[in-house]
Amino acid sequence: MTETATLVPYDEAISRYEPVIGLETHVELGTKTKMFCGSPASFGADPNSSVCPVCLGLPGSLPVINRTAIEYTIKIGLALNCSIASWCRFARKNYFYPDMPKNFQISQYDEPLCTDGWLDVMVGDEQVRIGIERVHLEEDTGKSLHVGGATGRIHGADYSLVDYNRAGIPLVEVVTKPVPGTGALAPVVARAYVTELRDLLRVLGVSDVRMEEGSLRCDVNTSIAPRGSGTWGTRTETKNVNSLRSVERSVRFEIERQAAVLDAGGRVVQETRHFHEDNGSTTPGRSKEEAQDYRYFPEPDLVPLAPSREWVEELRASLPELPAARRARLQEEWGLPDLDMTALRNAGALDLVADTVAAGAGPAEARNWWLGELSRRANESGVELTALPVTPAQVARVAALVASGELNDRLARQVLDGVLAGEGSPDDVVATRGLAVVSDDSALLAAVDKAIAANADIAAKVRSGKTAAAGALVGAVMRETGGRADASRARELILERLAAG
Ligand SMILES: [Zn+2]
Repeated sequence: MTETATLVPYDEAISRYEPVIGLETHVELGTKTKMFCGSPASFGADPNSSVCPVCLGLPGSLPVINRTAIEYTIKIGLALNCSIASWCRFARKNYFYPDMPKNFQISQYDEPLCTDGWLDVMVGDEQVRIGIERVHLEEDTGKSLHVGGATGRIHGADYSLVDYNRAGIPLVEVVTKPVPGTGALAPVVARAYVTELRDLLRVLGVSDVRMEEGSLRCDVNTSIAPRGSGTWGTRTETKNVNSLRSVERSVRFEIERQAAVLDAGGRVVQETRHFHEDNGSTTPGRSKEEAQDYRYFPEPDLVPLAPSREWVEELRASLPELPAARRARLQEEWGLPDLDMTALRNAGALDLVADTVAAGAGPAEARNWWLGELSRRANESGVELTALPVTPAQVARVAALVASGELNDRLARQVLDGVLAGEGSPDDVVATRGLAVVSDDSALLAAVDKAIAANADIAAKVRSGKTAAAGALVGAVMRETGGRADASRARELILERLAAG
């Protein structure tokens, strides 16, 4: 089924062509009820149980606008620095599809609720401003399930089932302006934008933004034109990309593919394309409909939408601290350099570190544990940091035990071993594994004397004034005590002993 595309290696493609990207992100809003009726907007219910005459499109039923969906959309618009329309109308988008019971979709066309904003994203330590064209509301469609075929697609299926539970769930579409000038970074910028938008929507509390469950999904537009030509190429639209990594890969693939088309003297076809998770490729879907194919007209069953200025200002005042502002505040409070903050974000560790600091750890210690030892453990087990079975409070406790000298770094790592293995709290693990630092002089002196006796040549060097050589003796003491010695106290004792000798 899939064509084999000819590709130009990425670096070569980008050396001769300049990409322009654009993103259309669909967000299922987390309202209790659907966009135009009182049916529950919940996931996971039995098929066709969350439906009513309105969302089933039965004759005589009339839609009513969901106030919470409007509120959420205005909040999104405000957080994206958009202008909020004081008057706008919904439009009817006409097309036939079996999972759309009314044979039209109520959407917004030439009168979107929010327009002309922007979102700043960080790529490395560079800030890129992404223009926002519009934020509009529409209703989602139902879901078709094709039964009996090998692929789960309609071709080869014995029959198809339709579930209308999702039909009518409020869906916000956030459309960027075209983003030129990102060069080789285009795929990374696309990913950074979706990441930032996801974090923003999460903080606003308007959606659960789970990409893997389809509550956040992206259409990714990509075009390329010869460098220096001053023109933009024809764009393709890769539909329903549903992970951050896939957003990045789909842009990259389209740049490589379109470069090969242009190199061969061909032209890029304006079309929608499907992204394939398994190999990171895209294949053609349908050729893109023009707006006139949908015969848009103002929805006659709904009154115009006219949010008052007072309401909009009330919503503006109610906005929570947004991710970029929070990051700037935390960075200032923590005194960490830009690179550290970028590393924390990339590792998905910002909230973990914030919670660890809130539980009493120093910012530098919290950063070190999460980005160092715990990131390594997460990589080894192939899980996200947040999925490790250790809480920020437990990490803060380990940091406190290190700060008070009850644990050294090596013992602290063993305590984390125990916590990760499910042996209980850090204090439980210290008690059951007997991991506390030995700082008691009488216990340490026995090990110190043994180390000196076993390393007479090194001891002689230290006696003659080469105190740096004492490190080897400290190492011997650590081995002798199974790593539990208080290293700085051991060093003091060694120097005392050898000075006295
Ligand atoms: Zn309904």
